[in-house]
Amino acid sequence: MAATVRTGEVVKLDRGYPLVRLDDGALLRCEHATALVKGHDQRAVIGDVVRVAVPDSHDKGVIESIAPRTREFVRKDPTERALPQVLAANFERVIVAQPVSEVNLRRLERELVLAFETGAAVAVVLTKGDLSADGAAAEGALRAVRELAGPNVEVLLVSEADPASVEAVRCLLTPGTTTVLIGRSGVGKSSLVNMLVGSDVLEVGAVREGDGKGRHTTVSREIVSVPGAGRIVDMPGVRGLGLWDADAGIEAAFPDIEQLAEACRFRDCTHGGEPGCAVTAALADGRLPQSRYDSYQALKQEVATVKDRREQARRLNKEKSRPPKRVRKGSASGPPGRKRGRP
Ligand code: GDP
Ligand code: ZN
Repeated sequence: MAATVRTGEVVKLDRGYPLVRLDDGALLRCEHATALVKGHDQRAVIGDVVRVAVPDSHDKGVIESIAPRTREFVRKDPTERALPQVLAANFERVIVAQPVSEVNLRRLERELVLAFETGAAVAVVLTKGDLSADGAAAEGALRAVRELAGPNVEVLLVSEADPASVEAVRCLLTPGTTTVLIGRSGVGKSSLVNMLVGSDVLEVGAVREGDGKGRHTTVSREIVSVPGAGRIVDMPGVRGLGLWDADAGIEAAFPDIEQLAEACRFRDCTHGGEPGCAVTAALADGRLPQSRYDSYQALKQEVATVKDRREQARRLNKEKSRPPKRVRKGSASGPPGRKRGRP
């Protein structure tokens, strides 16, 4: 079958099927070349730049290769013991959304770790400003979030009832850049995108999550162009945010603890009771809140556990792929294949 090879970008992902915008602007539904999925099981995610074989028959395109990514949003694959899952690629900013009247600081810490780990600029948007009891309550939430997020994170308050509040978010979306929007389902991400665009491009209040049993319901992700600004991707269906490699993200999200740690006696202090630990000293005299310390340790532990599992899996694979002593003809099997859930 005759085909031409073209460059494109994955602009929508629907049940794992990429929709690619080709260099001439045309949209093409694609599947992955077998060579990509075999072995390393590389699948294109939203934002990926890809090479696509476009059949002359105007059939589905075939993604032949994925360009190296400038940035990835990675979590632990919720359906696997020790595999990462990339949710988006090639973006410049991550915005974390939470409802202002129900801010969950522990969840926010985790979301910030994942956002910082990407290396992108990070901002927080507190949504549903109109549901806040009063101005003082909203101010209190803003203050708490600003304190937690640190000086490098812009924190904004928006409300559907106040279109002007959305303009500050628009200013964050620099033309020519892409922003990834994360947050629990129902916090108002789609509503925010619709307000930015000025029309209902995304479905609001829709049930868009899998049932946690690996079934994919109506999860779809899409890059949306915002007039007078950059592009934004709402990330529905991201219920679990398990950490993968996130040591750098933890460091960035806990600058208070990292700063204290500089004064620990041992460079590799785990702040778990070593002598001369400046972190536990700050904990003891109340400069560091216990909850903050507990989150830090729990997140560190989570990353360590995932690393251990990965190491175990690596050793196991190595053992399995060692050639057996006697090879019976016709029964040779390669190394165990790696399975990976779709985003
Ligand atoms: P998503 O799952 O994060 O995309 O959230 P949606 O945008 O679908 O919104 C979830 C629900 O919150 C919908 O019923 C929205 O109408 C509602 N909602 C979104 N933004 C606001 C807001 O600023 N104020 C109020 N009161 N409700 C909002
Ligand atoms: Zn220490």
